Amino acid sequence: MDVRQWIVRFSELVTADASRLTRLDSDIGDGDHGTNLDRGLRAAVAALDSDLPPGKVLMTAGRTLVSKTGGASGPLYGTALRRAGKAFGDATEVDAAGLGAALRAALEGIKELGKAEEGDKTMVDALTPAVAAYEGAAGEGLAAATRAALDGAEKGAEATVALQARKGRASYLGPRSVGHLDPGAASTVLLFRALADVAGR
Ligand code: ADP
Ligand code: MG
Ligand code: MG
Repeated sequence: MDVRQWIVRFSELVTADASRLTRLDSDIGDGDHGTNLDRGLRAAVAALDSDLPPGKVLMTAGRTLVSKTGGASGPLYGTALRRAGKAFGDATEVDAAGLGAALRAALEGIKELGKAEEGDKTMVDALTPAVAAYEGAAGEGLAAATRAALDGAEKGAEATVALQARKGRASYLGPRSVGHLDPGAASTVLLFRALADVAGR
C-alpha cells in the first residue's frame, strides 16, 4: 500500500465534502472545519515527495497539517499522522500489522494532545472503533482490515449525533450540541474511506 496515495485520496475526499463538513461545523462550531482541513491537506499533498519511505511521508504530511491547518483539527490530525509515521520507523513496506500499530499510535497521539475520551463527541469517537475494528480484522489482511475500520468509523461517527459535546467549541453549546453529527468525526470517516480505497486497489 502506498501511504502517499492515502493522503492524496483523503485530500480529494475532503475537497469533495468540504461544504458538508463546514455546514456540520456551522451547526455546533464556528463553520470552518471543511475549509480548514481542505487547505491543510492540499498543502500536505504538495509537500509530499513520491520517493519518501512510508514513515517519512506521514511525518511530512503531519508536520504540514500542524503548520497549515487552522483550528483544533490541524494539530490533532497533524499529530496523528506524525505519530503514525514514527510508528513505521524505517520500514519500506506497509503491511497489516505495521499499519495497525501506526493507527493505534495515531489515536493515542490525538487523545494525548486533545485530552478527549470516547463519548466526548469528537473525532476520537470515530477513531476508537475504527482502530479496534482494524485490529480485530488485521489477520485477514490490509484490504479486509481497512474495510472493517471504515465500518467502525462510520458507526462511531453516527453515534456522535446522540452525544453532548464535552471537548472543543461544540462543548460551549452544552445540551444544544445533542442531535448533530460531530464534524471531526465526519472527517475521520473520510480518512478511513481513503485508507480503504487505497488499500483495496
Ligand atoms: P475549531 O473547532 O478550532 O474551529 P475545526 O472546526 O477544524 O477546529 O475542528 C473541529 C473538530 O475538532 C470537532 O468537530 C472535533 O471532532 C475535533 N476536536 C475539537 N477539540 C478536540 C479535542 N480536544 N480532542 C479531539 N478532537 C477535538
Ligand atoms: Mg471549526
Ligand atoms: Mg475555527
